[in-house]
Parts: sequence; structure tokens; C-alpha cells
Amino acid sequence: MMLWPSNLLSVATRVVAPSRCLGCSILLDDGALFCASCREWVEELPSVWTLGVPRPLVTLHVGFEYAGVVKDAMLDLKHGGRTAVGVRLGEYLARRVPPRPGIVVPVPLHPSRLRVRGYNQSLWIARGLNRVRPDLTICNALRREGKASSQKGHGRIQRREAVSEVFSPTRLASRVAGQDVWLVDDVWVTGATLSACAVALERAGARRLRGLVAAEVT
Ligand SMILES: [Zn+2]
Repeated sequence: MMLWPSNLLSVATRVVAPSRCLGCSILLDDGALFCASCREWVEELPSVWTLGVPRPLVTLHVGFEYAGVVKDAMLDLKHGGRTAVGVRLGEYLARRVPPRPGIVVPVPLHPSRLRVRGYNQSLWIARGLNRVRPDLTICNALRREGKASSQKGHGRIQRREAVSEVFSPTRLASRVAGQDVWLVDDVWVTGATLSACAVALERAGARRLRGLVAAEVT
């Protein structure tokens, strides 16, 4: 069989880059996210929440408790440029998604924050999801507007107000009309962000909205 250069590259990448534990970077041969030692400090959460999920989301799928090695890995993803962590988390979260096609919408960053960070960590999680489930198409259907404000140091009520009505559809949002949509974010705190995103997508015609987050602050 003839291999094109891009195929050769992907084969070579797979050979020279086996997966590493997201906690301690030890080499793993079973494709897991964490090694046995780190797994002792990982709290894997039940896959689907239906109660207490802010409307118009119908379900929320959560990977882990935001603590210990999971928190460290996610801080590396968000602030340390380790976008590969996002891809690995997305590949893992793909197991939580029923086998039906749909659209994946990453929660956007405010443009000013995107300029500073250079990437949207939620988009990298979405890319991991799409790598395992190509029938889930990524669509940057939302933009975050308004005054950029750090959520650090805000109480829960202020944070809810800080994110209200700051998401609006982009030109691409017409693609979500009539579709099942997965909203992807890295961390769940109060649900205010995902809820505001879901409202904007519902207005754009999304049919069934579900949330998928890598970790929840409990
Ligand atoms: Zn480890």
C-alpha cells in the first residue's frame, strides 16, 4: 500500500509518541489517561447528570472531579500550553457520548484572552472528541462578547452575573439548526457559562443541547 507523506507522518507520530500519564508523565502502554499510582488520586464522576442541569441543557456529562492530578493536568492545559492534555481528555470523554451524530460547540474565550493565551483549551478538548468521533463536527458557533473579566475572586452570584448574556451566535451558527449539540468546556463551576451558551444556541435553532465537561469543581 502506498503511503502519502501525511500518512507516514501520522504513523511515525504514533510510534515515537506513546501516551504518557497526565499526572506524572510515565509511559503507558494501555492508552489510559493516568497510571495506576496517579489513578488513586483521581475521582472519576458518574457519566451523566440530568437533575439540576441548567436549562436549556438536557444532560450534563462530566469526566472527573477537579482536584489532585486532574486539576494539575487541567491547569497545564489552560495556562501551560499543554494542548495535548485537551486532546487526550476529549478522546476519553468521547466514551461518554452516545453513538449519534451531532455538532460540537466549544465554549469560546473572550477575544482579548484568546490573544494572550493563543488557544482555546475547550477547542482542544473538542478536537480530541472529534478525533475519536468524526461524526461529531466541530463548529465555532459562539462568540464571547462584553467586557472581559477574570472569574478569579468572584463569588458564585457575581460570576453568574459576569457571564450572563455575553455569548452570541457567529456566522457559522446556522449549522446548529435542527441538530443535536454538545457544548464542550474544560471546567464546570456553577453552570452559568454553559447555560448562557445553551440559551444562545437554542435561539440559533439547536434541537437538543447537552453539556460535556472534563471536570467539575465539587
Ligand atoms: Zn502517573
